[in-house]
Amino acid sequence: MSRRGELDAIVVGAGPVGAALAAALARDGFEVALVEARTPKPWHAGDEVDPRVVALAPDARDLLDDLGVWPSIAASRAGAYRHMHVWDATAPGELHFDAAERGEAALGWIVENRLIQHALWNALVPDREDREAAVHGRSFHPSSGTVRVHCPNEVVEVENGEDAVVATLDDGTRLRARLLVAAEGAESALRGRLGIAFEGRDYGQRAVVAHVATERAHESTAWQRFLPGGPLAFLPLADGRCSIVWSLPDAEAARVLAQGDAAFRAELGCAFDFRLGAITAATPRLAFPLRLRLAERYLAGRCVLIGDAAHVVHPLAGQGVNLGFRDVACLRRVLREARERDNDPGAAHVLRRYERERRSENALAARSFDLIERVFGSSSAPSAGLRAAGLALASRVAPLRRVLADAAAGRR
Ligand SMILES: Cc1cc2nc3c(=O)[nH]c(=O)nc-3n(C[C@H](O)[C@H](O)[C@H](O)COP(=O)(O)OP(=O)(O)OC[C@H]3O[C@@H](n4cnc5c(N)ncnc54)[C@H](O)[C@@H]3O)c2cc1C
Repeated sequence: MSRRGELDAIVVGAGPVGAALAAALARDGFEVALVEARTPKPWHAGDEVDPRVVALAPDARDLLDDLGVWPSIAASRAGAYRHMHVWDATAPGELHFDAAERGEAALGWIVENRLIQHALWNALVPDREDREAAVHGRSFHPSSGTVRVHCPNEVVEVENGEDAVVATLDDGTRLRARLLVAAEGAESALRGRLGIAFEGRDYGQRAVVAHVATERAHESTAWQRFLPGGPLAFLPLADGRCSIVWSLPDAEAARVLAQGDAAFRAELGCAFDFRLGAITAATPRLAFPLRLRLAERYLAGRCVLIGDAAHVVHPLAGQGVNLGFRDVACLRRVLREARERDNDPGAAHVLRRYERERRSENALAARSFDLIERVFGSSSAPSAGLRAAGLALASRVAPLRRVLADAAAGRR
C-alpha cells in the first residue's frame, strides 16, 4: 500500500511495546522501519533471571500469542500466578482474587522484560548472526510485510510534513513514511522534539527490585502488602523464587540498597509480615525512580506516542507495559481499518481515533493508581478508615471484585 520508496510506518524504540507494534504491523502487511538505539542483549536460559520483570495480563498474553511469540516465552521462563492477595499493614481487611473463580487457568504471568524483548526481536530478525551483529537498515520479512531494522541508531531530525514524515538517523539515513510512532520509553526524546508536554509528579519513591528465596512456597500467588512508605509486592517466579518490587521513599530506598545481605533479608521479611516465612536468599538489589507522567497529547502531525513515551504509571498495579500493549492493539486496529477504507494511515482523523480511545483510558488508569498510592501511602486517620472500608467492601462484594479483576486483566 505504500507509495514508491515510502514506508507505511517508522517505529522508534524496540522495547516490548515498540517491538510488538513493529511485529504486529508487519504481520498485517505494512512496511515498517524499526529504529533502536541499543542492540538488545540476548536472553539465555542459563542466565540469572533478569531483575526487571513484569506481570503480564491475559490480554497482553493474547497479543503476544497472536504475534507468534508467546509459545517461546511460555516455554522459556514465565511464572503463572493463579491468585492475588492484597492487604494493608495498618488497616484490617484483605482482598483475594482467584483465577478459578473467573474460570481461567491464570490471572497473569511474571515474565522478564528482556525475555519479551528477546522473543519479539527473534521474530523480527530471525537470523541469529544478524541479531548478534549490529543491523543497519537490513530488511526482514517476518510475515507478509517488511521490517527494516536500524540498530544501533537514533533519530536526530524529524520533518513532520503534510504528506509524509521524514526521519533522519544519526548515520545520515533518511526514512520517509506516512506515520512515525515514538516508543522510546519514559525519557522519549521525540516527545520533546515534537513539542508534546507532559503532566505528572515524582512520587519521591524508588522501587527496589530483587529476586528472593523464601522459606515457604509462593503458592503461585502475586502478593502485595501496602505499607505507610509504599507497597511491597512479591511476584511468583517460574523457578520457585519471588521477584520483589518494594516502593520506598527515596531516602529509605537508599538505606535499603546500602544494607548488608542479612540485614536486608531480615527487614524485608518483617515488611512482608513473614507471609512466606523467612527470606533465605536474595540477589543484588536495583532501584528505579517512580513517576507519574501523562503526555498532554498523543499526536503531533503524522507522529504518535505509544507505551511509556505516552504514559508512565506507578507500578503498584503492575499495569505499565499492559497499558502499552493495549496501545499497540488499538493502533493496530485503527491502522487496519484505515487501510480497509483506503485512508492514509498517518491522516489526523485516523490517528485521532487512537488518541481519543487510549489517552482517556490510560489517564483513568494512571489516576486510579495515583489515588490508591495516595490513600494507601498516607498514615492519616481518614485514609486508614478509607483503606479499611475499601478493602472490606471489595473483599465482600463479588461483583466489585470481578470488576477489579477484569480491569487488571484488560477485559472490560
Ligand atoms: C520497578 C518497576 C516494575 C514494573 N512492573 C510492571 C509490571 O509488573 N507490569 C507492567 O505491565 N509494567 C510494569 N512496569 C512498567 C514497564 O516496565 C514499562 O511500562 C515498560 O517497560 C514500557 O515499555 P516501552 O516499550 O514503552 O518502553 P521501554 O521498555 O523503556 O523501551 C524503550 C526502548 O526504546 C529505546 N530507545 C530509547 N531512546 C531511544 C532513541 N532516542 N532512539 C531509539 N531507541 C530509543 C530503548 O533502548 C528501549 O529499547 C514496571 C516498571 C518499573 C520501574
